[in-house]
Amino acid sequence: MPSFHAVLSHTSFADVILPLAIPGTYTYAVPDELVSEVTMGKRVEVQFGRGKLYSGVVRDVHRNRPEGYEPREILSVIDAEPVVLPWQLQLWEWMAEYYACTLGELMLAALPARFKLTGETRITINPDFQEDHEGFREKEYLVAEALQHHAYMTLKDIKKLLGQKTVYPLIQKMLDQRMIHVYEELKDRYVPKKVGCVRLSEPYRSDPDQLESAFALVEKAPRQLEALLAFIQIGRSQAVIKRQDLVRMAGADSTVLRAMEKKGIVELYELEVSRLSEGDQSVAEAPPLSDQQKQALVEVHHAFQAGKPVLLHGVTGSGKTRVYMELIREALNRDEQVLYMVPEIALTAQLVNRLREVFGDAVGVYHSRINDNERIELWNAALNGKPMVMGARSSLFLPFRRLKLIIIDEEHDASYKQQDPAPRYNARDVGVYLANRLRANVVLGTATPSLESYFNCTKARYHLVEMTERYGQATLPDMQLVDMREELKKRTMQSHFTSVLLTAIETALEARKQIILFQNRRGFSPAIQCQTCGWQMECVNCDVTLTYHKYSRNMRCHYCAYSTGVPEACPACGVTPLTLRGFGTEKIEDELAIFFPKATIARMDLDTVRGKNAYATLIQRFAEGSIDILVGTQMVTKGLDFDNVSVVGVLSADHLLQFPDFRATERTFQLITQVAGRAGRKKDKGTVIIQAFNPTQPVLAEVLAGNYKAFFQREIAERQEFHYPPFCRLITLTLKHKNPNILDDGAKLLFHYIQESLGQYLLGPSVPPVPRVRNQYLMQMLFKLPNTLSVLKATKTQLRDAIRQMQSAKGLSGVRVNVDVDPS
Ligand code: ADP
Ligand code: ZN
Ligand code: ZN
Repeated sequence: MPSFHAVLSHTSFADVILPLAIPGTYTYAVPDELVSEVTMGKRVEVQFGRGKLYSGVVRDVHRNRPEGYEPREILSVIDAEPVVLPWQLQLWEWMAEYYACTLGELMLAALPARFKLTGETRITINPDFQEDHEGFREKEYLVAEALQHHAYMTLKDIKKLLGQKTVYPLIQKMLDQRMIHVYEELKDRYVPKKVGCVRLSEPYRSDPDQLESAFALVEKAPRQLEALLAFIQIGRSQAVIKRQDLVRMAGADSTVLRAMEKKGIVELYELEVSRLSEGDQSVAEAPPLSDQQKQALVEVHHAFQAGKPVLLHGVTGSGKTRVYMELIREALNRDEQVLYMVPEIALTAQLVNRLREVFGDAVGVYHSRINDNERIELWNAALNGKPMVMGARSSLFLPFRRLKLIIIDEEHDASYKQQDPAPRYNARDVGVYLANRLRANVVLGTATPSLESYFNCTKARYHLVEMTERYGQATLPDMQLVDMREELKKRTMQSHFTSVLLTAIETALEARKQIILFQNRRGFSPAIQCQTCGWQMECVNCDVTLTYHKYSRNMRCHYCAYSTGVPEACPACGVTPLTLRGFGTEKIEDELAIFFPKATIARMDLDTVRGKNAYATLIQRFAEGSIDILVGTQMVTKGLDFDNVSVVGVLSADHLLQFPDFRATERTFQLITQVAGRAGRKKDKGTVIIQAFNPTQPVLAEVLAGNYKAFFQREIAERQEFHYPPFCRLITLTLKHKNPNILDDGAKLLFHYIQESLGQYLLGPSVPPVPRVRNQYLMQMLFKLPNTLSVLKATKTQLRDAIRQMQSAKGLSGVRVNVDVDPS
């Protein structure tokens, strides 16, 4: 510890953000010998609490001695150059304020793991580090030696080992030189992604003259013949031929290729994707723009000039990506950086490939599944001006130097919102804010705009650009709504399938086309439904379906807490006993196998895509034509671009509409339109079949007509009438405790504190749909606030104070409160 006099002599102080969920920054004294090194955006090593060491980010350096306490000294400076830029620090501050969380939580969310060293950080030796230990300096040698004998060591251990006050700069150097790694226990090991390829067998490969005899072998098999012709044609321009290419050109699925393999004509093999791009380094010229795309570009430029965000509303298959590419190209030509945001990067392998084909190495990819080394590399690349990054929501946090274009693709998608942990931010909204701050252009693209964004267009805050036609010869699919009640009556339904859907699937299978079926299994507690008339129980106060609660054996409303008993028989038709309705993708998959024993069926949902490459593998198998029918949840609605899909089926539209959420109708419109957009994307017209018990719901007619405007007008009127966003702001508080009685006390006390000032805005406290999660009981408060920034701000301050007050009451310090601003 420095002496009292030494501390008093300090004239320079730094406010430091710590990687902890504590409010604000902490002020430290800058020792004289570090004064020239401590600057904004660098990391420093500091002590916080009893003996705990952390790497914090310097927010500010100043000469204001803190009052009332003696600041501790900064122990060391970790970075030679700032790793966080001033605009990022401002963004963190804005987000902490807006989303009612702490700066520390922002730092935790924003920085790669290796930038967040604490005493608990685990370090492990890099087994691939080749340099012989002689080259190590003494301390590095000691650390490396010790690590040889341990799976990992914490920084605290290392500090003890070396017996010195500060180890962070040393550790950072070793990390930078790749001698050691931050230990990543839970991450999947990196497995290179592979792609299925085809090559000619010998002797044909080395001696094309022999091909004639290969042709003789397939003479009587027209599909094999076609495949061989296609192979030769593609081979003229490509060294590596993907199986996918053959499917596309000649419909040669795996049966055809395997037959040819047996005959000794071709060989099937797997190639690492990275090797693939090595093979064709040359980036391709993007195809010429269509007239509609040209027109859209003109309008986008116009809006950019006016400094307005653009909402690009283009139907599925209209070629929005090609418009983005043009904007990206223009930005790169001006030496500007581009951020291309997508809702879930894992689901966009296809898109990444399309962009890499045109922009090659200029494209970096950043998301939660890459490992920390890749993350750091991209962080540094962004600092050094990497032209373009594609990423999920956390890519907003990268240190761009000249970010001038932000593309927010599928802007309507709910996964832009981070649920847990804090910061509970919406990356779309932050993206728009950031663009404004950095004077960057921003494009929000989608076939199904969020109500908020479209509303902003009607208020002239955003500029609307429309593309109403599909690209090329493709037309939008035919949509058909099938009444399940009627088929039940006529007894033509087989389990969950109407005869219409079954026939369509059969026809498609015969034509060797592919089928996508969408079943949303979202929702936890099942609803109750009459098998004969489709009747469902609704709340007397709200327009939602009641949910069956298994434990309490009653029906409840998740909005107003109304509850009632379970009826014996259907009150509408009086006959049938009610059944628990609710069927998932797995059930559907099983039933399909019975109806279509010869078809290859696969399922895509959270359960089947857990591993790192599971999703990519499924997509690839589908693209290659090895899967006939793909059954899945939301995932199948997202951005897939396959040529051979002719039928898309929505198994239960009712399901979507019943979700107890004010956005249920909006989501229904989006999901059905999006999944329908997967059909008939090339020349053949697709068919979409939507099954519903309640086909008279207006939103279904709007989906069928592809009439977004009609949907918007009806829905926005309802939002206004019932006072929901965008006509108000929502904040939810979720209180948690493992003891329901303590939770109850906490909720009551909190309610008491805010009743007077905020009572008028409050709905609740109420028990949420899932009352207990991971052994924690939950309670919710929903605030509907007028849409003015001043009220929003004042409310957040009042909430913060009230929460603190409640938690300082005896016995209640353990009641956790999550604040969610703009919940989705
Ligand atoms: P969206 O994202 O609007 O649904 P995509 O960008 O996926 O549409 O385009 C739909 C299909 O049309 C894709 O297969 C794409 O390759 C093709 N396409 C779009 N624009 C062009 C163009 N200008 N030239 C050639 N093909 C295009
Ligand atoms: Zn209700
Ligand atoms: Zn009935």
